[in-house]
Amino acid sequence: MRKAAYTLALVPLLAIVLAAVFLSWPGTGTGFSSGTGFGAPEARVYFFDVGQGDAALIDVGHGTQILIDGGPDRAVLRGLGEIMPRFDRRIELVILSHPHLDHYGGLIDTVSRYDVGAVMLNQSGSGKPYERLVEDVRAGSRIIPAAGQRIPLPGGVIEILEPGVPGTDSANRKRFSNPNDASVVARLELHGHTFLFPGDAEEAEERRLLRSGGLDVEVLKVPHHGSSTSSTEEFLQAVTPDWCIVSSGKDNPYGHPNPGTLSRLETAGCRTVRTDRHGTITFRLTGSQMRVVPQRR
Ligand SMILES: [Zn+2]
Repeated sequence: MRKAAYTLALVPLLAIVLAAVFLSWPGTGTGFSSGTGFGAPEARVYFFDVGQGDAALIDVGHGTQILIDGGPDRAVLRGLGEIMPRFDRRIELVILSHPHLDHYGGLIDTVSRYDVGAVMLNQSGSGKPYERLVEDVRAGSRIIPAAGQRIPLPGGVIEILEPGVPGTDSANRKRFSNPNDASVVARLELHGHTFLFPGDAEEAEERRLLRSGGLDVEVLKVPHHGSSTSSTEEFLQAVTPDWCIVSSGKDNPYGHPNPGTLSRLETAGCRTVRTDRHGTITFRLTGSQMRVVPQRR
């Protein structure tokens, strides 16, 4: 791990770049449509269909994109190729929730194909693919996350809720014995709409998040692909999501999403949308409206 002092210095730099195109446009409406509404969307949040894994892109407009995880393989490139403007080869920030292949595999090609402004990651991984990714990242800028860190965006902000930075005390070591439970957790507020990206957090990290608060959002990326060990009742009661996005592969060997978890999501009152059934799911934020556009119905 590099020293935090070095990497954190990049955050103000990023903030200055992003603040240069700052635009505030609050809104509250939520709807479901085929995506044929009037006017060009100001911002979009994509949950890519990458099979068994996670990859979400926040396109805030004005040529500013943030990628959260990259899925297991090159599938993410297809999604990026379809939505990145031809003239824009720069992704301002990549956040890696934790170093498991179903989240970082696609980042290896992403960092070589795109000009990535900075990469936020918090844990050491193992294996040749991960080493290759870290080597590529070293050539650029790396940000170590910290709880409470705020990254201003045009029209919003990303707040880091769980840092999961390795330490030497025993509680911290225990936390890192399960990389899922040390996932970087990001909360996005964009044009008045809110999203939570908890990576593969399981029960232990959900409990920590409950203590830190600020979980109430409209859109929840369901943690850990809808596994039985995540999305506890208490967690869902605090999040109170309107939309639950499950990112998982068709007929995956883990049985994700777990039927018990799906029924907890239903009880929580959210509308569940799944990448394995609906393909890439797009949230279009236009002024005060939010529209959800699945690739397949
Ligand atoms: Zn995963």
